Amino acid sequence: MSYEEKLDKISVLENTWHDAVNQTEVYNLINRHFDAPLPEGKKTKKAIVIGYDGCTCEMLNFLGSPENGAISYLLSEGGHGIFSFAGGQPYPEPVTQETSTAPGWCSMLTGTLAQENKIDDNGIIKEIEPKTLLIDLIEKNKIGSSAFYVSWGGHFEDDNSTYLKEKQYIAQNNLSAEYTCADDDDGTLENTLNNIKRDDCSDFIFSIFEYPDHFGHGFDYRSEVKEYMQAFVSSEKTGIEIIRAIESRAEFSQEDWLILVTSDHGGYKCGHGGPTLEERITFIISNKKI
Ligand SMILES: [Zn+2]
Repeated sequence: MSYEEKLDKISVLENTWHDAVNQTEVYNLINRHFDAPLPEGKKTKKAIVIGYDGCTCEMLNFLGSPENGAISYLLSEGGHGIFSFAGGQPYPEPVTQETSTAPGWCSMLTGTLAQENKIDDNGIIKEIEPKTLLIDLIEKNKIGSSAFYVSWGGHFEDDNSTYLKEKQYIAQNNLSAEYTCADDDDGTLENTLNNIKRDDCSDFIFSIFEYPDHFGHGFDYRSEVKEYMQAFVSSEKTGIEIIRAIESRAEFSQEDWLILVTSDHGGYKCGHGGPTLEERITFIISNKKI
């Protein structure tokens, strides 16, 4: 089956892959959530992005039961999903930024593309502007605190990491934004759950899980590859564990949560960065209308 046919087969999304929206839509959804008035009976707004790094869109043809997966659960509970794209421009236009980790998440976190944010590949240090939502929402008094949980050093741990300057800016300005890099996805899950279990959990949480990307690089980014499939299953389990923790919060009934699950890029063979549909088409799943 061609990849076009695999995408055509996906029945859980509300647009077609031909009408995929730019992944910067994640930024818009989060801003709109915090700008909207509080629904009746709610006291606080919260948002979380659960990122499946390197998860191809075709995996949405293999959703498990709602008890075992964040995406299946959100969709079964009246959530919404759309096709989105990485690479800066819609397929088949040429890509204007690599279909890679730093450009993908940076586009979502800043609502801008590489022309503006200069992050057209991994290994580039972003200037303070444009700021990510993690600090912008705090400075605009839309939230009190944020948290960014990862296990890939390229985000803000390494010498050439994307948010190195932003992390320094946070320390200098005493912002309540926690940037923590764990050893692996288990550590990211633990950091995320520990945060959610706090009474005063962060208002905006951005957690990225590396299972699909790791096994895509190692074995091939295809649903037919069992290691890659298993990585998707693991991501879904991680995602549902996070959602359960959110719903178990003592204050949950008074909180207005936006929950998003998305990926930064797909993959082709054992890599990504290029212009293929496999690398370019992603998805955005939300517990709220998109
Ligand atoms: Zn990635």
